[in-house]
Amino acid sequence: MTATLVAEDVRRAYGETVALDGVSLSVDAGEVFALVGPNGAGKTTLVRALTGTTDADGSVSVFGADPRTVDRERIGLLPQAFDPPARLTARELLTYYAGLYDEARDVDAVLADVGLSDDADTWYEDLSGGQQRRTCVGSALVNDPDLLFLDEPTTGIDPAGRRSLWDLLEDLAAGGTTIVLTTHDMAEAHRLADRVGLLADGRLVAVDDPDALVAEFGGESRLIVETDADPDALDLEYPAERAGDSLVVSDVPPEAIGDVVDALAAAGASYDALTWSEPDLEDVYLELAGTDGTRYDREGAGRGRERAATAASTEDAGPAEGDR
Ligand code: ADP
Repeated sequence: MTATLVAEDVRRAYGETVALDGVSLSVDAGEVFALVGPNGAGKTTLVRALTGTTDADGSVSVFGADPRTVDRERIGLLPQAFDPPARLTARELLTYYAGLYDEARDVDAVLADVGLSDDADTWYEDLSGGQQRRTCVGSALVNDPDLLFLDEPTTGIDPAGRRSLWDLLEDLAAGGTTIVLTTHDMAEAHRLADRVGLLADGRLVAVDDPDALVAEFGGESRLIVETDADPDALDLEYPAERAGDSLVVSDVPPEAIGDVVDALAAAGASYDALTWSEPDLEDVYLELAGTDGTRYDREGAGRGRERAATAASTEDAGPAEGDR
């Protein structure tokens, strides 16, 4: 594999604030690399350093050259904050951006790619938030880039629009486009990325393929029981602790779920719902960059990857969002 992008010991401070504290990274040709991390971790600054749109110490090489000298026809960039003129239509905006390049894609084809054919003649200000973001994504595609940077491409896009953008990005990746994206959506990172880099306080604290990260840092499977039962009153051979309205039993293999149900019955404890969940990338994120106390709060809400373990008043969470 040839590296499309190589960054070594990239550092950037804004006054006293250290935004990037020595980031080294290599992204191969055709790879999809997702940067995740809390607000303020340095993701946008890193994207800017990698695209040569901010000064940084260390070295960055894109297609073997300083990113500032790379032919801009080869790079597409969707910045996080991108505010095009409101009184231009989606088509006019993409036509404008296409006009900045010697060779550009057919604007109608780009509009179709981002799902805007029907609204192409609507003023930008009258498009929904998701349609506006898709217009912005389209503007990064007009030059048919070999390397595409997308800073939070799907923020504000509804689930259907998000999935169609995922399909589009997967098609681009399959066609050989190298993609570096930032996202707060762990399902998005897991689905799209060959490798995920977790940035915290300006450092890459973990980089690997999503499944390997989950295996290493995701923790155990959990059985979440909505009950007010006291774990000490139950005859359980698995570690259990209370979290809000739930009892969280760790490391229960699926075949032992019945043992937990039996222990609840033996103690005369009633429960409203029972959900078994496997660790996912969100657990990795919370383990490496999250704050204490958030870890189980979301369990009761029912995540996509959770599975109904029994029929007992547990609603199935439906198709798994994180599944491929
Ligand atoms: P993220 O994209 O992960 O939210 P950023 O790269 O935007 O993180 O920010 C990293 C840190 O650098 C934050 O503390 C932020 O406040 C600071 N920072 C980013 N851009 C600027 C700037 N132009 N001026 C001053 N501080 C900045």
